[in-house]
Amino acid sequence: MWKKNILETIGNTPMIQLNKITKDLPCTVLAKVEYFNPGNSIKDRMALKMLEVAEKEGRIQPGGTIIECTSGNTGMGLALAACVKGYKCIFTTTDKQSKEKFDILKAVGAEVIVCPTNVEPEDPRSYYSVARRLAREIPNSFHVNQYDNLANRDAHYETTGPEIWEQTEGKITHLVVATGTGGTIVGTGKFLKEKNPDIQIWAVDPFGSLLKKYHDTGTLDASEVYPYISEGIGEDFIPQNYDMSVIDHFEKVTDKDGALMARRISKEEGIFVGYSAGNALKGILQLKDRLKKDDLVVVIFHDHGSRYVGKVYNDQWMMERGFMDVKTVKDIVNSRP
Ligand code: PMP
Repeated sequence: MWKKNILETIGNTPMIQLNKITKDLPCTVLAKVEYFNPGNSIKDRMALKMLEVAEKEGRIQPGGTIIECTSGNTGMGLALAACVKGYKCIFTTTDKQSKEKFDILKAVGAEVIVCPTNVEPEDPRSYYSVARRLAREIPNSFHVNQYDNLANRDAHYETTGPEIWEQTEGKITHLVVATGTGGTIVGTGKFLKEKNPDIQIWAVDPFGSLLKKYHDTGTLDASEVYPYISEGIGEDFIPQNYDMSVIDHFEKVTDKDGALMARRISKEEGIFVGYSAGNALKGILQLKDRLKKDDLVVVIFHDHGSRYVGKVYNDQWMMERGFMDVKTVKDIVNSRP
């Protein structure tokens, strides 16, 4: 038996119990480890779904060009699908993202355009605006728009949600997700709540993102928006994939705590995760008092640590941001094996 192409390996990722970092919690925590997808992230699921829907609706023709704003993971999923299906890819991204992510996208045949981070979304230089302009200018192109394309959350309603329900034999009590476009938490959460409305859906948001404030108060408060370091999560606008009624609670986690926790997950559990997995697990630890003995918490680990070796996993990078104490030269020399 074999797979007909790489896209058939998307989904059905393992769920792995956490044993060390969570030992002071009263309950069991299971990680849905999404780096087992072929593009090493959960975004393979929605990338494939968004393309399948676009093909069905006749919005992209053979040989066409896929255009998207992506920090890397969605781009990887789209690029893999584009290889198999015969499309070109152009991605716009921001200068905040890891260089490793751009290089990986180029390795699988995509063109990457890097845009400034600290400009308004409406600014013609923003990665949103550049993608929109390219979509207007390039014939037979399809602007995927993962933020407002509802096939994003549908992918998780159709795959991630049912997998978690089956893997926990319906015993899940809490789903915890570090959230960006909202696709993962809304799609997965909606499916699970339909199965059991008592399941708590908790979102984790970085400081500098306006998602929590919008969820809690319904207001779009510009003072909430400022630059932050966490990658792939938080927003400065509300993507259409959000249905805030699915989310019971939003928890803020600092960039520093998320980064330190990602490093602990890799070192203590042997699961080499990306940055946002740290944010998500830190969120659970912050909410310890709300958890009980028989709870079964599922946390999504969105992607793989290899994309962060120059950042979260680089001591110098961590020290420059005040995330780790500045070591003396002697300490660094002594720490070498
Ligand atoms: N973590 C990482 C590393 C991501 O790339 C993303 C996607 N932006 C998320 C979390 C958040 O997922 P979603 O966009 O489905 O909310």
